[in-house]
Amino acid sequence: MSKLRITKIEVHEFTFPMEDVGKDYNGFNLVYEPGGKQTGTSYATKVFTNEGVTGEYIGGDSPSFAEFNMFAGYMVGKDPIQRELVYNDVKRAMRKFDKMGMGQIDIALWDLAGKYYDAPVFELLGGWRTSLPCYASTMHGDRNGGLDSPEAYADFAVACKEMGYKGFKIHGWGDYDINQEIATVFAVRDAVGPEMDLMIDPACEINTWLETVKLGKACDEAQFAWLEDPYKDTGISQHGHNQLKKIIKTPILQTEHIRGLEQHVDFIASGATDLVRVDPDYDSGITGAFKIAHAAEGFGLDVEIHSPGPAQRALMAAIRNTNYYEMALLSPKTPEIGRCNAVYADGYRDATDEIDSNGHVPVPTGSGLGVTYDWDFIMKNRTGGREYS
Ligand SMILES: [Mg+2]
Repeated sequence: MSKLRITKIEVHEFTFPMEDVGKDYNGFNLVYEPGGKQTGTSYATKVFTNEGVTGEYIGGDSPSFAEFNMFAGYMVGKDPIQRELVYNDVKRAMRKFDKMGMGQIDIALWDLAGKYYDAPVFELLGGWRTSLPCYASTMHGDRNGGLDSPEAYADFAVACKEMGYKGFKIHGWGDYDINQEIATVFAVRDAVGPEMDLMIDPACEINTWLETVKLGKACDEAQFAWLEDPYKDTGISQHGHNQLKKIIKTPILQTEHIRGLEQHVDFIASGATDLVRVDPDYDSGITGAFKIAHAAEGFGLDVEIHSPGPAQRALMAAIRNTNYYEMALLSPKTPEIGRCNAVYADGYRDATDEIDSNGHVPVPTGSGLGVTYDWDFIMKNRTGGREYS
């Protein structure tokens, strides 16, 4: 047991502006909208200890914050190095919830451990990669002059390929027309040629399973690398995806919308997915996501890490059975859509043009997560939060 003890935890809610962004048909998906303005909300967690070393992480959302409130008291006084104990205690305590609050605190504890040992998180995980291959992951389709046609997606895919991206993923329209969605699959493949890995993620917008079969057959013909969360089961029906896999050949990527190690393993064991989705924010932090990656490895499968960020980079640097870093959400008209690069004081960014000519991003090498947060920006835009001590 280390001599470190958590003395205080602060969680700060803050907002940030998003330009040229609107919402699509029912107010949930962010889409390109010239002149549109939206306000994003995020959470900054800071863990203080008796020896002065701190851990920091920016991520999560209001449900994560609400769930963290339920076990924050347990954290104060704990040894922050004992992440496995925290994982197991909190998993049991929060068993009737989805445990979204664990991600933010676990990642802050990994940052703290890295600073305590003066090592980057990816090294503590046994990582070896120094740069990560990226795919371009688009925004949802719009009707506003951005990604508003199969041709617009095809043009953007070609532009991304020319920048160095080896993969391109379509997020289609919320108010979709299945024929337009299928036309986009073929238009993008025709435009980029046979080598580029192509994926499509309808983000559970497709209304029926039968429409999904039609889309899946188009993916087969266009040699797509994967089909992700296609229809409105919300990505959680093991039976539905098993049936789909009997008919289409394209690998299926599921489990972005189920939470936890055991749930992921049950989904894998039932044969309902080919590729396993994991997200350190959603799946109980780097601790939980690493367990899922190893569980997938034991089944001989790959994990694909959801969304970009410093925690994702550290994690991916230490996983063998994974293919791509998801650079999201990209639009031909707005390079930094939907995320807040302003929270970084050291030039760290996730954006369309952040890749090198080979389509890679680097893994930060500083201690902890290897990023420096801009606390002036966070506190200037603070809208709420709570302190636990
Ligand atoms: Mg997805």
